[in-house]
Amino acid sequence: MTAGTALRIDLHTHTTASDGLDTPAGLVSLASQQGLSVLAITDHDTLDALDDAARAARTAGLTLVPGVELSTTVDRAEVHVLGYFVDREDDIFIGRLAELAAARVRRVERMIDRLHKLGYPIDGDAILAEADMGSIGRPHVARALIAIGAADSVSDAFDRFLKAGRPAYIPRDPFSPEEAVRLLADHGAVPVLAHPYSTRDIPGILKRLVPVGLLGLETYYAEYKPEQHRDLRSIADKWGLTPTGGSDYHGKGFREGRDLGAAPVPGEVWERLEALHRARREQR
Ligand code: AMP
Ligand code: ZN
Ligand code: FE
Ligand code: FE
Repeated sequence: MTAGTALRIDLHTHTTASDGLDTPAGLVSLASQQGLSVLAITDHDTLDALDDAARAARTAGLTLVPGVELSTTVDRAEVHVLGYFVDREDDIFIGRLAELAAARVRRVERMIDRLHKLGYPIDGDAILAEADMGSIGRPHVARALIAIGAADSVSDAFDRFLKAGRPAYIPRDPFSPEEAVRLLADHGAVPVLAHPYSTRDIPGILKRLVPVGLLGLETYYAEYKPEQHRDLRSIADKWGLTPTGGSDYHGKGFREGRDLGAAPVPGEVWERLEALHRARREQR
């Protein structure tokens, strides 16, 4: 297929296997209803959504890209790394992801504790029960704050309690973005820097990550403006990175600008990502 064909593509989404609101099969069916042709599921630190999603995608005739998103922090800035074409049968990789998910539980436990001490009686057991279903994170804590009337929305909960510098913010266990990129690359996935402006230092981060195997830059991120898409595209081109894009959908109404399929991802981007994957598979 040539550039400019009307494929609809979304390469960044979350399900109930992490902090999204739609089940894996529900997300695939929504994507199909919306006319998407290519959907990547990129849950935080888990591949648990991918079997159900793959089955649903086969039925719906949609291309599912198996993915994951790993979160790291550098100087309090969020540096997230997406991995595409993860291997659902790689037990060593899945074991490493399980360790990261366990660190998420410990972090959330400390946030619950902190909020209780601050006088917010959120239901910690209910949050932690969700950990059995997949990996948990700050959005679960945000929803618990909304449930007791302490916040109006997920964004409000982040702004007042959960983001860096706010009273219930707990830093992550040390995990460098280099380790995230290497973990993905060593296990055959294609590592891509997610929502690059969150890093607050794109050149500094690329200088660190390109030498250890970063292959792509999330350029067409739905929340970003057209000028930012253009700027990121020229950065991707300059560094020889494959541009990708997606919505970071977590569920209807989770956050403005993140509707499924909302990112203007050109078809050419998908072709390049697929070609990259094919080339690497032949090398292995
Ligand atoms: P965690 O992985 O536990 O650190 O939580 C990060 C998740 O929270 C990401 O998936 C983001 O989509 C979401 N998030 C981060 N900042 C905000 C915000 N200000 N408002 C709403 N959601 C946010
Ligand atoms: Zn998330
Ligand atoms: Fe992210
Ligand atoms: Fe995400």
